[in-house]
Amino acid sequence: MKLPINIDQIKGFIDPDEGEALYRYSLANCKDKPCLEIGSYCGKSSVYIGTAVKINNQILYSIDHHKGSEEQQPGEEYFDPDLINQNGDGIDTYPFFLNTIKISKLEDHIKPILGDSVEVAQKWNQMLSMVFIDGGHSEESAQNDYKFWKKFIEPGGLLIIHDVFPNPKDGGRPPYNIYKKALDRKEFEEIELIKTLGILKKI
Ligand code: MG
Repeated sequence: MKLPINIDQIKGFIDPDEGEALYRYSLANCKDKPCLEIGSYCGKSSVYIGTAVKINNQILYSIDHHKGSEEQQPGEEYFDPDLINQNGDGIDTYPFFLNTIKISKLEDHIKPILGDSVEVAQKWNQMLSMVFIDGGHSEESAQNDYKFWKKFIEPGGLLIIHDVFPNPKDGGRPPYNIYKKALDRKEFEEIELIKTLGILKKI
């Protein structure tokens, strides 16, 4: 894997092993159809996926309202003061995201979609080779991302979920809950779990 930039300079929560897996699975699977991620933040995961889809001459759609998730707001555990918005009452990651895809020369292969995942899904009409869920960590956000996007994954396509913690001692429940739901309902089968990156294949 050769990334177009030094990935360590990009803010984000994707571990290098998880990033390498995103690249590898995107390269192998996102060939005939575009793929999509929910939760762009500053574009770290987008660079891993985007570098792979560029090789395949494909597109990554990247959805985010760019206002940060619950735990990234001022005063919360994952707040980063560099990201404060103009009003000083929240964060704005959009300029960071745009800069990431620009310096990576991935603008022709990563299409930002500024908005709410559910609202975008309600107007969506295109099948996808892979969906990567890395959005809000509330139970409602995670469940909605699963519920509204799974139908757009082609049979044999991938659903990848970040922040999956099988042991409650290690982290929050919602991403694990949708991972488990996908398996329990036999809508997806497990390929592997790389650190907290859960990789599933649609049946
Ligand atoms: Mg995450």
